[in-house]
Amino acid sequence: MNQPLLLLDVRCPNCQAALTTNEQVVLGAHLVGTGQEGEVRLSALFGDSRAETDLAIGDGDAVTYACPVCERTLTVETPCRFCGGPLASVTLASGEPLEFCGRKGCRGHALGGYGDLDEMTDLLNRMFKIPHD
Ligand SMILES: [Zn+2]
Ligand SMILES: [Zn+2]
Repeated sequence: MNQPLLLLDVRCPNCQAALTTNEQVVLGAHLVGTGQEGEVRLSALFGDSRAETDLAIGDGDAVTYACPVCERTLTVETPCRFCGGPLASVTLASGEPLEFCGRKGCRGHALGGYGDLDEMTDLLNRMFKIPHD
């Protein structure tokens, strides 16, 4: 098995449980529009917005995430800078925070960023703690 270069190893910021399993990040989810509770399995690959879920999440629907282990919310107070939706924060193996948007279709929805090179460099720096000049 080839280990993908940019597999994100993320943890719960509250209980430190490892959330990455088999290239997916498994999270408890709450659909804001309908109040439905379920599970979302996000791709753990950098910039990959694929997700599997048992919830009926349509484009533009917002989801808040919770840790499946300690069940505390992962939503931070600052909303998404692109769509104003709920922003979730998990912790990278390096200890740095990784934030992503809970709204499907938002460009901040993918784990780790928005697919542009600056974001990618920034993430790599944070993953591997490369100091800035
Ligand atoms: Zn937790
Ligand atoms: Zn957003």
